[in-house]
Amino acid sequence: MIENNTPKDFKFKKKFGQNFLKDTNLLKAIVADAKVQQDDCVLEIGAGAGALTEQICVACPKGKVVSVEIDNTLKDFLQEKFKNQDNLQFVFGDILKIPTSEIEKLFNGKPFRVVANLPYYISSPIIFYLIESGLNIKSITVMLQKELVDRITAKPNNKDYGAISVILGLYGKVKKTRDVPRQLFTPMPNVDSGILSIEIEPTQLPISKISKVVKGCFAMRRKTLANNLIHSFNISRERAESVLEELNLDKNIRAENLNQEQYILLTKKLGEFL
Ligand code: SAM
Repeated sequence: MIENNTPKDFKFKKKFGQNFLKDTNLLKAIVADAKVQQDDCVLEIGAGAGALTEQICVACPKGKVVSVEIDNTLKDFLQEKFKNQDNLQFVFGDILKIPTSEIEKLFNGKPFRVVANLPYYISSPIIFYLIESGLNIKSITVMLQKELVDRITAKPNNKDYGAISVILGLYGKVKKTRDVPRQLFTPMPNVDSGILSIEIEPTQLPISKISKVVKGCFAMRRKTLANNLIHSFNISRERAESVLEELNLDKNIRAENLNQEQYILLTKKLGEFL
């Protein structure tokens, strides 16, 4: 355990989801889980006091690290701490407001890995921002709230299985690499965490299209899939039921009963309504 090094008089901001890591072994393990290579490009979201940033930089001395941080009060501290770190560039701003073209430019169009201890309040929007961006991402390795890791890795017919499980499962090979107890953060959050890793694989269809269909199918979880199709894609009941019939699906089936392959087929069928 290391003493957490933060700027003098620093006040942790709940609104930015600031729970910093203080365990060096865990920080190294996250970078190892991400399989960062010497010449890799890495995007970190949320530098905090730079504890994870430091380990990422050590892992890819011949590559490039870009770390985005929203909290400007960390700027002087981070710039001073890393003034001799040639392979690192900070961007101060909200990751969700940075145009993807700018991120592409920062890495000269090269593929990159995402490694981050994500702020919990916007973990899902950040994940969707990344996967729907069309950016050339090789892998995503992120610390998330344990419940979100469970939802993402859930299988069909399970209460945790939802749009995010289907979409990420189609985006790549999804795996929980480790559990992380709350005691390893400062300040200690009131939830446990886990590390999720996604090795991105080529998809048969653009992920933005799959995402639109899957989100529409899960829009009203308690309703049947047919009802969701009608409301989300503005089609008639006859059309919705015939789509299900063409896919050999029962007309009373629910979104949580379909597996990933069935969502690919459904996306192809619904193509004309998108
Ligand atoms: N990486 C550090 C660590 O592991 O100790 C900090 C992780 S902390 C859970 C999340 C960090 O993300 C905070 O430093 C917070 O200020 C930053 N953050 C929150 N919202 C952000 C956003 N929209 N864009 C960029 N950074 C953000």
